[in-house]
Amino acid sequence: EVRVRFAPSPTGPLHIGGVRTALYNYLLARKLGGKMLLRIEDTDQNRFVPGAEQYIMDALRWCGIEIDEGIEQGGPHAPYRQSERKPMYRQYADQLIKDGYAYYAFDTPEELDAMRARLTAAKVPNPQYNSITRAQMRNSLTLPAEETEQLLSAGTPYVIRLKVPRKEEVRFQDLIRGWVVVHSSAIDDKVLMKSDGMPTYHLANIVDDHLMEITHVIRGEEWLPSAPLHVLLYRYLGWEDTMPQFAHLPLLLKPDGTGKLSKRDGDKLGFPVFPLEFHGTDAEGQPTVSSGYREAGYLPEAFINFLAFLGWNPGTPQELFTMDELIENFTIERVSKSPARFDQNKVRWYNEQYLRAKPDAELAQYLIDDLQKQGREVSADKATQIAALVKERATFPADLAQEAQLFFERPTSYDEQVISKKWNPAVAATLAEFATQLPTTPDASPDEIKALLTQVVESQGLKIGQVLQALRVAVTGAGAGPDLMHIMHILGPQETAERIQAAVA
Ligand code: GLU
Repeated sequence: EVRVRFAPSPTGPLHIGGVRTALYNYLLARKLGGKMLLRIEDTDQNRFVPGAEQYIMDALRWCGIEIDEGIEQGGPHAPYRQSERKPMYRQYADQLIKDGYAYYAFDTPEELDAMRARLTAAKVPNPQYNSITRAQMRNSLTLPAEETEQLLSAGTPYVIRLKVPRKEEVRFQDLIRGWVVVHSSAIDDKVLMKSDGMPTYHLANIVDDHLMEITHVIRGEEWLPSAPLHVLLYRYLGWEDTMPQFAHLPLLLKPDGTGKLSKRDGDKLGFPVFPLEFHGTDAEGQPTVSSGYREAGYLPEAFINFLAFLGWNPGTPQELFTMDELIENFTIERVSKSPARFDQNKVRWYNEQYLRAKPDAELAQYLIDDLQKQGREVSADKATQIAALVKERATFPADLAQEAQLFFERPTSYDEQVISKKWNPAVAATLAEFATQLPTTPDASPDEIKALLTQVVESQGLKIGQVLQALRVAVTGAGAGPDLMHIMHILGPQETAERIQAAVA
């Protein structure tokens, strides 16, 4: 059985990169009939942000990403929050020590700083605690066994570190990147257990993936450097046979391609980087609000479709995919290695497609609700007609009410350019005549209105092209907009005639 997990740390709102990771995990689980887990990785309590966990679950729900096992759903491997699993990790650290794959280290923060300073002064490119430096530090590999015992029984603070071999190639096959080979000299003796008895991300993540029988680890590229370390941990814990397959997703870049899209970019670049609005606090404890796709008027289907394409494509020209279609078509093989550039126009385009594809009656409901907030009443029938007419100009649901204003407010000014070019006494006289005749056809369809207009215009010796823009300005005030015959039809002959009369007066 395929089992995947989304394993966020509740250190803040989930950003779109995180949602994409969750999405790809979900698509694979559903496609292969497997299970999707949500595991909260909250072992780093210094970085814990209140509300983040709830936010993550709300965001996934809004996106339509369903969780089979997790902190809300429960499941055979509960608890799914790492802070509640604390007692489970210790034995694995002890096992690693017993087998010679990990060791106690007693270095104080000052000693570690001094080591780093020494290495930096010697121009060592990235200072590490490794097979070379550990020889000069205070740990159970360098201290006599009795001294280690004494330190331990005296309650001296310590951490447990992984003993990374000195000269070894660590290799694994990534489903997206192919073979990844890293020399062990590039891997740090990472801390597995902190002095407070909390496991680090590395230990907890491997232990949980093993116990929870995870088959595929799909996560962001930023975790690729940790993967060789994880491979060593699987090996040293004796779990190499059931090690999950890795797939590291490509980076998401800023719209101009100049680097990774970060959580801070949203407000700077003028588009949300979070699925939902997030209310948090800044470093000074002041309340902050980060904008979200939901509140900006994006539809979850559009957002998800857009995200799916940030790093994956179906290999066909089809761009619109429902969640079910994504599930059907998704394969890891079609996930790209190269970074994906965030494209603001594309996510708007998706929203337009999904919005305009909705039944008019549903669009009408947005309109009714928004108009109600402005204190305007509109019948369902009229709202449906308006929605059908203006939807081609809308990107967000709120645009519908914006575009509908012309039906509720008579023009207060007229487009200057059109007036100066198209308005003259002959045109005004023709419009006046049209206004007189219009109310005699109370139920005229858009086509019938057009026929009447053509007839009046020709009877005055003009051509329709000479009056159309002037008529639009007279009725709506603006030089452009939705189809004019439909506008007049929805306004009705009486209202249209009165608007024209006001303009020619
Ligand atoms: N807790 C890690 C994160 O916040 C999970 C990384 C992984 O999937 O292994 O992204």
